[in-house]
Amino acid sequence: MAFESLASKLQATFQKLRGKGKLTEDDVKQAMREVRIALLEADVNLKVVKEFVEKVRERAVGSEVLQSLTPGQQVIKIVNDELTALMGGTQSRLAQAAKPPTVVLMVGLQGAGKTTTTGKLGLQLVKMQKRPLLVACDVYRPAAIKQLQVLGEQLKIPVFAMGDQVRPVEIAKAAIEHARVHGNDYVLVDTAGRLHIDDQLMQELKDLDEALHPSETLLVVDAMTGQDAVNVAESFHQQLQITGLILTKLDGDTRGGAALSVRSVTGCPIKYVGMGEKLDALEPFHPDRMASRILGMGDVLTLIEKAQQSIDEKKAAEMEKKFRRAEFTLDDFLDQLGQVRNLGPLDQILGMLPGMGKMKQQLSGVEVSDKQISRVEAIIRSMTSKERQEPKVIDASRKRRIAKGSGTTVQEVNRLLKQFEDMQKMMKQFSGMAKKMGKKGKKG
Ligand code: GDP
Repeated sequence: MAFESLASKLQATFQKLRGKGKLTEDDVKQAMREVRIALLEADVNLKVVKEFVEKVRERAVGSEVLQSLTPGQQVIKIVNDELTALMGGTQSRLAQAAKPPTVVLMVGLQGAGKTTTTGKLGLQLVKMQKRPLLVACDVYRPAAIKQLQVLGEQLKIPVFAMGDQVRPVEIAKAAIEHARVHGNDYVLVDTAGRLHIDDQLMQELKDLDEALHPSETLLVVDAMTGQDAVNVAESFHQQLQITGLILTKLDGDTRGGAALSVRSVTGCPIKYVGMGEKLDALEPFHPDRMASRILGMGDVLTLIEKAQQSIDEKKAAEMEKKFRRAEFTLDDFLDQLGQVRNLGPLDQILGMLPGMGKMKQQLSGVEVSDKQISRVEAIIRSMTSKERQEPKVIDASRKRRIAKGSGTTVQEVNRLLKQFEDMQKMMKQFSGMAKKMGKKGKKG
């Protein structure tokens, strides 16, 4: 999980401040020393760390803070503000051309996640009711063309390709024409990657830039490479006018140094972050929400947006009805688990709940929970339809069969059935209560 150790260190530092009724300059100094070490350990650029700590210290030793009744909280607020500012302040949205199609050039080194991200961005646009066209311009690796085509098929997004014998500029121009004719409002151009920055690559990207005048040139960088990612971004930006960054693999970057430094070093805004291999694991980047996650204050807004995107409202309403009537079956239970799953890996979801950061560390078994959900799903899937509707019929021999079929144990099957029974009892009580309250409501 991103920022894991930085988050826990900062939270520990602020915990100490929070407990104090009054702060002295020495307290602030000590806290800033800890913040500085935490940031350096998170692989944040040295210059960025220095400036950051100095800004926070200056504001924190101001008289309003030291004399306030809740100085600890004031310091946290300052750190929150400055972290937000460090990452760009406000959200930087994807541009939209005055006259469609909006052309987006996707650039980056090989392996950064450029092709995958092109597909993910396409999916984001589809969710925003747009009609993207993906364009395969990496003519040096035929596998890259195929990769984009496969992605397009999976996502049901059209892919424009002309093989590997045509120059990228020609392909891209033809693609834009194709988009005009077919009503595609966004053209996402997947360009060639290289292992290292070289002149030939840069020339090709410059040619594309000149020929297409893209609204956006987005550089995809791998957050897991830390300060290397920042260096790559700087070199690209010097040669091409990058309009924004996409940091991938932030899910695997436990330190978070690139995310915290790259904006300040390059001046380019981070537009999106990749949070996993799955195709819906791309999030618009909100500096304030990210700061809040780092400080353990959660990110409820992103969670709500995710829920809105992935939970089927009609289904939720149906589910609620069943719940009220206590008609909830194991099939419904399976469905619900699937919906929670759709939101993303459990540890990421928990990280978005305020205060969960700390609890997660205490639990330290959250990854297991993802596995546990899989086991529960496997158990229910191994039941017949009758068993799911009427768990009462499940006798000892059926339990053995279910355990075998799901690769679990009879104890686990028992535990699930017991939990489900308890849940049903609770629902009956609830629905009983709701009915009574309903009647009272009518009378009153
Ligand atoms: P390209 O060479 O830059 O086009 O890179 P690819 O799109 O082929 O991606 C390289 C690898 O990175 C693939 O295995 C992707 O699944 C993986 N990847 C891309 N983005 C993310 C991300 O946000 N998180 C994780 N965990 N993996 C990612």
